[in-house]
Amino acid sequence: MTSSADRYTHVLQQLKLTLPKASGAGLAVRAPRDGSHFAALPAHGSGEAGALIDAAYQAYVAWRDVPAPQRGELVRRFGQALRQHKAALGELVSLEAGKITSEGLGEVQEMIDICDFAVGLSRQLHGLTIASERPGHRMMETWHPLGVVGVISAFNFPVAVWAWNSALALVCGNAVVWKPSEKTPLTALACQHVLEQTIAAFNAEQPGSVPEGISQLLLGGRELGELLAEHPRVALLSATGSTRMGRDVGAKVAARFGRSILELGGNNAMIVTPSADLELAARAITFAAVGTAGQRCTTLRRLIVHASVAEKLLARLQGIYASIAVGDPLADGTLVGPLIDQDAFDAMQRALDQARAEGGQVSGGTRERQDLGDGAYYVRPALVRMPAQSAVMQHETFAPILYAITYGGDLDEAIALQNGVPQGLSSAIFTNDLREAERFLAASGSDCGIANVNIGTSGAEIGGAFGGEKETGGGRESGSDAWKGYMRRATNTINYSGALPLAQGVRFDV
Ligand code: NAD
Repeated sequence: MTSSADRYTHVLQQLKLTLPKASGAGLAVRAPRDGSHFAALPAHGSGEAGALIDAAYQAYVAWRDVPAPQRGELVRRFGQALRQHKAALGELVSLEAGKITSEGLGEVQEMIDICDFAVGLSRQLHGLTIASERPGHRMMETWHPLGVVGVISAFNFPVAVWAWNSALALVCGNAVVWKPSEKTPLTALACQHVLEQTIAAFNAEQPGSVPEGISQLLLGGRELGELLAEHPRVALLSATGSTRMGRDVGAKVAARFGRSILELGGNNAMIVTPSADLELAARAITFAAVGTAGQRCTTLRRLIVHASVAEKLLARLQGIYASIAVGDPLADGTLVGPLIDQDAFDAMQRALDQARAEGGQVSGGTRERQDLGDGAYYVRPALVRMPAQSAVMQHETFAPILYAITYGGDLDEAIALQNGVPQGLSSAIFTNDLREAERFLAASGSDCGIANVNIGTSGAEIGGAFGGEKETGGGRESGSDAWKGYMRRATNTINYSGALPLAQGVRFDV
């Protein structure tokens, strides 16, 4: 296995990125694949962070008057640069977040896709024309930029979440200040570098196209996230991470009447009914439950399977789980890479102990591949047969643990189990019965932001609005009309009549 240091160095050369030097301890750049420490990056102090937010605000003041299609041209060029650097950035995601190669590349592809989406959107930020009740009047809606958009992101999607937010925020006429996870600072620095290079090239070709400071990066820990939450210049804070974080951030932003988009923890379930294609379900379950080593917000964590097909399906899953390739995420054939760090491993072991105490039968979950590094935490994904949906299943443990329970009655029983947790991100049903599928998608069906039929809970496309309900936070980002969250709506009434009639027939003659 090539050393992570060599691979990091090679990627940085490809990106022509020189690392800034940290004074003091700085922010560690690790590689979960072998637990090694590659470098330390300088972290921003609160004074510097405040200055960068102010600079972003100044940039916004100029950017909001740039025509939206021209703003889209910046995002188009950024998408091109991402295409050019896809291999290097994908490898960086694999090195720093531990994703297998195709998932690292997939994350960069997601950035490219949202850029394409945002470019088209830059010519479609349109409002409505509304019939007025008054003669000689017209009503309409106009959408305006908001200001500075703060983005807090989690380690498990170290770049895609920023791109979802940035591509939309920029075409909508906002400036962006990004506080990435302290566990993935180098990937963030690299993306910011590619964007800054894009801006410099655009301005060299057409001077003054993009104001300086339109996109800022804050490197540091949660204290910088707290600063964004409290800062009066941050009009919108889009925060992705744990429910604990969202509870804190949401309250702080609301206290100053700011806006937030909260994308928090999931606890996603799949229902498998008697009519399901079990082989298709087994494959979908495996990708959703063990892909990204169980570290996706949309990871499948609860399997609710009808008792009549449970033995067959679970036996098939046991076989897959026992043989699935766990190892170096950069090696061909690996499907399950490492957990991000020891804390994640410890949390997984605690959850498995709790599951056993609640009557669960655990298979897998053990540490593997210690030959790859003492500080590298690889695990065999765990499949846990639970007697009931007990306390451990109410929480998200960010690791590859799939709890399986059975239902014996009708679909209502399964839907009640599926909805019977505090989170509401993603859900799925496997069925070949049209009535069951429609029942699952109906108002009294799944209560999640994402509800799928015959595909798994993870791996969403950028074209749809992404997000979830209840403790997942209620935010929506990415596709559909999520762009409206990044703009403010003005309702305009125009009088071209020469008279002054009042609405609702009110008379006020002077
Ligand atoms: P985390 O909550 O520990 O950290 C996420 C980010 O929030 C980091 O940048 C961190 O520095 C910052 N942060 C932490 N506490 C904060 C506070 N009090 N105020 C301001 N900022 C704070 O999450 P993580 O371990 O990096 O990521 C895993 C979690 O993220 C899981 O719960 C997962 O489900 C969730 N997640 C959700 C989505 C989604 O779209 N719903 C997507 C990815 C990850």
